Amino acid sequence: MSAGECIFCRIVSGEIPARRVLETDNCIAFLDVSPLAPGHCLLVPKGHFDSLAQMSAEVAGSMLSYLPALGKAIVAATQADGFNVLLNDGKAAGQVVPHVHVHVIPRKEGDGLGYRWHPQALDDAAADALRRSIEAGLGG
Ligand code: 5GP
Ligand code: ZN
Repeated sequence: MSAGECIFCRIVSGEIPARRVLETDNCIAFLDVSPLAPGHCLLVPKGHFDSLAQMSAEVAGSMLSYLPALGKAIVAATQADGFNVLLNDGKAAGQVVPHVHVHVIPRKEGDGLGYRWHPQALDDAAADALRRSIEAGLGG
């Protein structure tokens, strides 16, 4: 997808309006147009990346460094009891907009929001192999 077709690139450029709450050299944050709760924001890099895995540690790290302040400001503005940080990376993970974005979702006790969380049994041999494989992928 070219930047011209990407909805979040068009928000970054100002071509499409959004309720911005933050702008830095390499990221913006704005209110989600279809929030899971009032105050639900998206933190988005200014550059177009389909996946977090395409971003450099420097650019991703800079963007993610705003999460503490953004979470705190959202909680204060909404009188929330907590917040979730969620990044859907890839269609299988629920990503609809193919431009990296981090959801910051304020939560209140008993709000009924949630995530299906069905833990599986851990197979020791498979877990050992996975540990080695992921470690190798990280260059270890
Ligand atoms: P995803 O499922 O890709 O993780 O989430 C995409 C999010 O982007 C959704 O929560 C959706 O409401 C939000 N979104 C999609 N289009 C727009 C838009 O044009 N403006 C804003 N502010 N949010 C959008
Ligand atoms: Zn984009």
